Amino acid sequence: MKILLIYPPFLEARVHAEEINAPPLGLYYVGALLKEEGYDVEILNCAHVGKDSEIVARSIREKNPQIIGFSVLQANRWGALEIAERSKAINPNVIVVFGGIGATFLWRHFLTHFNKVDFCVLGEGEYPFLKLVKAIEKGHPKSLKSIKGIAYRNNGRPVKNARPLPIKDLDNLPIPSKYFDYQHVAFTRGCPGNCTFCGSPRFWGRRVRFHSAAYFVKQLQYLYKRGLRFFYFSDDTFLINKARVIDICKRIIEQNLEISWFAISRVDLVDEEVLYWMRMAGCTQISYGVESGSEKIRHFLNKNIQPEDIKKAFDLTTHYGILARAYFIYGAPGENQDTIQETIDLIHHIKPLSAIFYILDIFPGTALYDMFLKQSGQNDDIWLQKIEDILYFETDPHLTEEMIFAFGKELRSAFHKALPHFANAIELTDDAAFREFNADFLSRLAMTFSHGDYAKIEGIPHKNSTAKHLYERALGYAPNDRVYLGLGMMKQREGKFGESITLLDEGLGLFPENDQMKLCKGISHMNLGEFQEALGCFERIGDVNLAKPYITECHRASKAS
Ligand code: SF4
Repeated sequence: MKILLIYPPFLEARVHAEEINAPPLGLYYVGALLKEEGYDVEILNCAHVGKDSEIVARSIREKNPQIIGFSVLQANRWGALEIAERSKAINPNVIVVFGGIGATFLWRHFLTHFNKVDFCVLGEGEYPFLKLVKAIEKGHPKSLKSIKGIAYRNNGRPVKNARPLPIKDLDNLPIPSKYFDYQHVAFTRGCPGNCTFCGSPRFWGRRVRFHSAAYFVKQLQYLYKRGLRFFYFSDDTFLINKARVIDICKRIIEQNLEISWFAISRVDLVDEEVLYWMRMAGCTQISYGVESGSEKIRHFLNKNIQPEDIKKAFDLTTHYGILARAYFIYGAPGENQDTIQETIDLIHHIKPLSAIFYILDIFPGTALYDMFLKQSGQNDDIWLQKIEDILYFETDPHLTEEMIFAFGKELRSAFHKALPHFANAIELTDDAAFREFNADFLSRLAMTFSHGDYAKIEGIPHKNSTAKHLYERALGYAPNDRVYLGLGMMKQREGKFGESITLLDEGLGLFPENDQMKLCKGISHMNLGEFQEALGCFERIGDVNLAKPYITECHRASKAS
C-alpha cells in the first residue's frame, strides 16, 4: 500500500521561514513506523510551493497513493484542504487523513464542513495512524470503533474515539533518521508549563516523557553519517532534566559528532554546569520565551518566570558563548505604553543578542481560545474564514491595529538601537577550554553585523564598528577563519583591496583550506586588475562549482583589458 505524508503550504508568506519550512518531526515518526511495518511511504514537503498546487498535483499523479496523511497546523489547513480536493479529483478513492495539532483541536470542524477529509488523527499520532492504515487496508470499517485516537464520520456524523494512553516508552518508536533526513529533532514530548497561548500542554500533556540519551544520539549519528551537521533541538523545554541533557552532551562529544545545534528552554532551568556541557557539545543558540516585561501580562499568559531568572539565564548563556535569543509577545490584554516600556526596560536589562517579537495569536487547543469563544459567543465555524489565525487585539475593543503595529515598531526599534551596546557588553568565560568557542561565538556575531541579518537592518547603528570590534575581540581568544574572511570582506566593501588581500593572506597562512577566503582574495585581485593573481586564487579553490564562474569572468576580463 502506498502512503503519502504531506506537509502542506501556508496561507501567508512567513517572516521567520526557517521555523516552519521543515515538516514537523511527527510526520517522520509516523513515516518510520509505517516503513517498519512494510508500507511504501513518502514524505512530501509542500511548505515551499505556495499557491502553485500544480506541482503537488503532478506529484500525486506520479506517486498515486491510496492514503494521504496531512500534518495540519492552524495556518496551513487551507493548503491541506486544497491539496485534499485536488487529490480526490485525481483519484476519488484516495483516503485523506488529517493529523497534527490543527486536526487534534478542530477535528469536528473538518469532518463537519469538509467531506474531502475522511479521518482525523488526534494527538500523538503514530499508533492510531498505523492502526487506521491497517483497518483501511483490510477494508474493515467496523473496526474503526476500536481505534483509539481517531475521529471520522459515522452515518454522516463526526464521531471521536477515546484518546489512547501516551506512549510509555518513546524508544519503542523506530528511529526516524534510519529512513529520512531532517534537522529538527526532539528528545522529549510534553511541557510542564501551562501558558495560556500555547497548545503544547493539551496536545502532549504536561507530564514530560523522554527518549533515552542513547536513542537520541543514535538518531543524530544516522543523520551525521549522511552529512548533516546542524540541528534544531525542537523540544518545548530541552533542559527539563539536567542530568539527561548532560548525558546527551557527553555522548555527542564521545562519538566525535562535530555538530552545532539550537535549543529551546525555560529561563528557570539553566545553570552553569549544563551550559558548559551544551556549548562543549555544539550548542550555539538557546531560545527563551520571555514574552513580556510586564508582570501583569506575564501573569495573564501564565508565564511564571521572574525577572531575576530571566536576567540570570541570559547572562549565563552569553557567558558560555551561546547566543541567548528572546521571544517576546505583545498585544495581550492590558497592553499599553507603560507595559511596552516595561518590556523595553527588560530588554535593556537582559541584553539579548537576538530577539523575536510576535503579536499575541489565539489558537484552538489553548486556554486563550476557550476564553475567546466564551467571551465572543463564537464557535469553531470562525475557521471557515480564509484566515491563518486570530490576533488577540482584533477581539479586544481596548486595542487597535494602529496601536499594536506602533508597539511592535517601538519594541523592534528599541532592540535594534541597543544591539551594538549589548554586543559590546558581552562578558565571556575565561576558562581556557573555551578560547576557541569564544572566538567562534564573537566572530559569528560579528559576521551577523557585517554581512548577515543585522547588516540589512537600517535601524541598527554602528554596524561596521561593532563588527570590527567583535572580530578583533575574537582574535584575542584564538585564530579564527571567520574573522579573516569577515574583515577581508569589510575592507573589500570599503574599496581597500590591497588591505583586504593582506588580511586574507594572513588568514590563508593559518587556514590554507578555506575556499571562501581564496574566493574573496581573488575578487580583491580582480578589482585591482590583477587577473593572473586572481586566477591563482580561484584555481586553488577545492569546490569547482564555486570557482568556475569566477575563472570564466577572470579570463573574459583579462582578454578585454
Ligand atoms: S510556551 Fe513553552 S513553556 Fe509555555 S506551555 Fe508552551 S512549551 Fe511550555
